[in-house]
Amino acid sequence: MFHLRINSDKCTGCRACEFACSYHHRKIFNPKLASLHIRRAEREGEISIILYKDLTEAEKRQRLPCDHCAGEPEPLCVKYCVAAALTVA
Ligand code: SF4
Ligand code: SF4
Repeated sequence: MFHLRINSDKCTGCRACEFACSYHHRKIFNPKLASLHIRRAEREGEISIILYKDLTEAEKRQRLPCDHCAGEPEPLCVKYCVAAALTVA
């Protein structure tokens, strides 16, 4: 199993990872389902990357937890992050 490394300082806020993640889970593009959430602070513009791993059953009805891209040859969020804000260890 890989370990996902997150470097928010490199993130451009493009949100490609959210789309890629929802595609992994459900084969649709819906960032609301993604295990990642890109949050931009309104005033400062600072970006933070939130990774959801442990969710309650109620939370899972809204968003899906990271399963380390089970069944994929590589994590899709890493594959489509051109800024290298997401990497694997
Ligand atoms: S794909 Fe990479 S650069 Fe784009 S929002 Fe996700 S972490 Fe940030
Ligand atoms: S590793 Fe896969 S399931 Fe986990 S956040 Fe990245 S795309 Fe989503």
